[in-house]
Amino acid sequence: MTARVLDGQALAARLQAEIKPRVAEFVSTHGRPPGLGIVLVGNDPASHVYVRNKVKAGSDAGFRVDLERMPESATLDDVLALVERLNRSAAHDGILVQSPLPKSMGAGAQQCVFDAIAADKDVDGFGAESVGLLCQNRPKLVACTPAGIIELLHREDIAIRGRHAVVVGRSDIVGKPMALLLLHRDATVTICHSRTPDLAAVCRQGDILVAAVGRAGLITKDHVKPGAAVIDVGMNRVTDAAVAASLFPAGHPRLASFEARGSVLVGDVHPAVADVAGALTPVPGGVGPLTITMLMTNTLRAAVARGGASPSPASAS
Ligand code: NDP
Repeated sequence: MTARVLDGQALAARLQAEIKPRVAEFVSTHGRPPGLGIVLVGNDPASHVYVRNKVKAGSDAGFRVDLERMPESATLDDVLALVERLNRSAAHDGILVQSPLPKSMGAGAQQCVFDAIAADKDVDGFGAESVGLLCQNRPKLVACTPAGIIELLHREDIAIRGRHAVVVGRSDIVGKPMALLLLHRDATVTICHSRTPDLAAVCRQGDILVAAVGRAGLITKDHVKPGAAVIDVGMNRVTDAAVAASLFPAGHPRLASFEARGSVLVGDVHPAVADVAGALTPVPGGVGPLTITMLMTNTLRAAVARGGASPSPASAS
């Protein structure tokens, strides 16, 4: 069997095309675009790349996107004050604070900042109120990566109800909300983590298998029920030639790319899983592009839910 490719890139393009006229309609109704405030603290290079992509995607879709940069030396109070200003701003429907925050802010800083974002503007869905509402199956705004995966399963006609879904990973941003979304769609859900004994046997129960771990090629053919839909969330940059060679056979174009560039981006799912799975998301081009698109969807949803509150000179930034 060669798994059907679940093309997240193509779906993201379709979703973006669907969003554009809805943004235009919002503008003509409310006299302003939906607004997204992005807070970027410090100098983390990967965060700068992610934020650049988010600003571009939002601007291309017709949103107002304001990037608020703060230096590495910013304090937690500085960030909270900025979040509070964006909470009050009528021009901003969505607020996103890019993680990670500088380590100097302390271990609890990130969640403290997420919790400070008003729930109706929490377009990342990481705040405690957003998570609580999701847990009770009355979500306002849902974390973008799992929301994108649900959209992908839906658009690809992959049934969820009554099926067994196995989620590997229990992080607050991917694994847990993913499991809840599947549960609320009537899947029987198993969550695995680093202490799960015989991971392969548990994973093999999954009609739907979601891997959100951060370990290149962890999920092998041995972990996959024949015909299962396998969703690979992992994004791992491999720089070790031996690891690259364990993932791709000699002569494979990805191996050639590794040899040319010294690194290759891979998922948590070993490419050979395509021989067993019924459907599989590629990395890159699977879940990743959907995450940013769902950020736009969430921002538009937040704007519409806020009724397009128009900016006032006192509160707009
Ligand atoms: P975290 O590190 O927060 O969580 C990883 C989870 O995997 C933990 O629950 C951990 O278990 C579990 N785990 C680690 N090792 C094993 C193992 N050997 N067997 C079983 N479970 C294991 O990662 P995130 O959830 O933030 O991200 C996961 C991956 O998804 C990363 O590669 C990340 O880059 C990617 N990602 C991709 C996105 C996209 O848009 N495509 C968006 C967000 C993330 P335990 O809890 O016991 O430690």
